[in-house]
Amino acid sequence: MTTQCQLVLATHNPGKLRELRALLPPTIKTIPAAALGITLPEETGTTFLENALLKARAVAHAAGLPALADDSGLEVDALGGAPGVFSAYFAHRQATDTENVAKLLAVLRDVPPEQRRARFRAVVVVAFPNGHFLTGEGTLEGYITTAPRGTHGFGYDPVFCPLQETRTLAEMSPEEKNRLSHRAQAVRNLLAALQQYCQTTTGSAVEEQE
Ligand code: IMP
Repeated sequence: MTTQCQLVLATHNPGKLRELRALLPPTIKTIPAAALGITLPEETGTTFLENALLKARAVAHAAGLPALADDSGLEVDALGGAPGVFSAYFAHRQATDTENVAKLLAVLRDVPPEQRRARFRAVVVVAFPNGHFLTGEGTLEGYITTAPRGTHGFGYDPVFCPLQETRTLAEMSPEEKNRLSHRAQAVRNLLAALQQYCQTTTGSAVEEQE
């Protein structure tokens, strides 16, 4: 008999869903919030942690199960750290990834290569229905290219090149990105505590399988 922990993934972003599922161990059964008909709250926080907590807590409350949320974004030094928590809406409120990338390249058009330093940040939160929560954080340093390259990944991946790399994240395989990404680091930082939780918890959070 094995014990399997269930986590509701508090995101509707297909890129994040795919990566989170690949980064979490197979002993954790993941359920997208959309599969339970749960909508996400508005991201009214001013930090990645506040927004991740908002999403994870709302979904854990609605589902009666532990929920994992990722809040992440791109900080560009030449833009004073923008777009930051507004990365998903940089071009406009309903922006597509392509529109956000085009806007970023346009505002950085006259910025020379040595001033295009940027980083991805991710904060991952698991919230439990009893109000407890665990967090993990990760950062990936790099720079913004002058044109999009590559077809993998999502968001700003085609214009983000990690330091010491010549390829953008979108030119790397999903496995390569998942070895070095901000999200991978954040999930790794969370996993020890999560696995301990999954081994010790009982009741609705745990599903027992023959
Ligand atoms: P939010 O966390 O839902 O507010 O949205 C985060 C936004 O940051 C995404 O919509 C992407 O635009 C960007 N982002 C976060 N992580 C990544 C990544 O791994 N690759 C590319 N873009 C990302």
